[in-house]
Amino acid sequence: RRTTREWQAADAAHFLHPFTDHQALASRGVRVITRGEGIYVWDSEGHRILDAMSGLWCVNVGYGQPALVEAAARQMTQLPYYNAFFQTTTPVAVALAEKLAALAPEGFQHVFFTNSGSEANDTNLRLVRRYWDLLGQPERRVVISRENAYHGSTLAAASLGGMPDMHAQGGLPIPGIVHVGQPHQWAHRDGAARGLDADAFGRLAAQWLEDKILALGPKTVAAFIAEPVQGAGGVIVPPASYWPEVQRICDRYDILLISDEVICGFGRTGRWWGCETVGSRPDLMTFAKGVTSGYVPLGGVMVGERVARVLIERGGEFEHGFTYSGHPVACAVALANLALIEELDLVRRVREDTGPWLAERLATLRDHPLVGDVQSCGLMAAVQLAREPRTGAAFDPAHAVGMACRRHCFDGGLVMRAVGDRMIVAPPLVITRAEIDEMVGLVRQALDRTLEEARA
Ligand code: PLP
Repeated sequence: RRTTREWQAADAAHFLHPFTDHQALASRGVRVITRGEGIYVWDSEGHRILDAMSGLWCVNVGYGQPALVEAAARQMTQLPYYNAFFQTTTPVAVALAEKLAALAPEGFQHVFFTNSGSEANDTNLRLVRRYWDLLGQPERRVVISRENAYHGSTLAAASLGGMPDMHAQGGLPIPGIVHVGQPHQWAHRDGAARGLDADAFGRLAAQWLEDKILALGPKTVAAFIAEPVQGAGGVIVPPASYWPEVQRICDRYDILLISDEVICGFGRTGRWWGCETVGSRPDLMTFAKGVTSGYVPLGGVMVGERVARVLIERGGEFEHGFTYSGHPVACAVALANLALIEELDLVRRVREDTGPWLAERLATLRDHPLVGDVQSCGLMAAVQLAREPRTGAAFDPAHAVGMACRRHCFDGGLVMRAVGDRMIVAPPLVITRAEIDEMVGLVRQALDRTLEEARA
């Protein structure tokens, strides 16, 4: 067995990490995570860490669920792999497609499988182009996305995302993708300064979409893509007025709506799908992460009947797919995972019990001298750090207060994500009230240490 130092040295020598500054990593030393159970993981030094991020928003049923492991082992033994290209299928992929159609909102009967959320969003782009081409409207090419969105890391998915730092590396976005503003709370603060309440601000943010459509020419727009609640952008919960207006605008100009459910899907917001929480009616839905609770990679697109009918009845061959589309082992794990979510009644628990409890407990942090605001939706939440909580005055970005807080969390046995100065939690959906209390206690401790350091 290797020591932690040996793992760190081998890691530094060979492993290029995603979204990581390797110089900074080398100076601090990488943390080696060796096992997990429930909502906790352990590192190679034996420290227990409460994983308030569910890995990367994905381990919805928590770590160490034997039903998922057994499903994978059974499928690997029986048939580890077969494809769906050669006019062939596998019972397990069919069963999962059937199950997802049953769980999806009305009007979704078909699914296209991928390995990841990024590939699923690439698939969306190809699907909407194909759809409009088949309808004889090839001039409908532009896909509108939102600033501050995250939709993945391939060229197309990173272009759909609205992260300036990602766009700056490599000349993104690719042509045909444009962005509009979204109801971010800082913009809302600006709105409030102009006398807008939350609902008026939500309508204004939706109006930015309509303005963009009109500026481009409605007949050139293929689709609008958005997360029901922006996740990686900092858990931006929109005002209640926003989504109904967006839906009205998409309907009015006959624009396809893509709901990116990679984070919000499978119970995170207290419904099976985030669009059900915010009240939108998408034509396409991207999913990944929670479909297998991250135990194995799987993603896909739920294809609503409006698009599916055109593709199937007029389409001929859709020249698109992946070696692992409908991978039997991934599908078997997904089926076991969805069965467990149902058995444990997790979606209702998030909606009626743990989600409201998290909101209540996080609200107790409002008295902390570093906390400007708290926002949550189901089991995804953000704690906004502020230099001046009463006025909401932000920290100078050079302060890197979020990263400092993240470090104090980790040192105190808690994983939280920092998005600028927003601290994020999105714990496994199996978390209990007592565990939420423990988690919020650890958050307060990390805030105290961050404050001490800021004052020193
Ligand atoms: N879409 C959203 C909303 C996401 O949060 C993510 C990943 O965090 C993706 C897409 C990309 O998924 P993946 O990392 O599986 O490619």
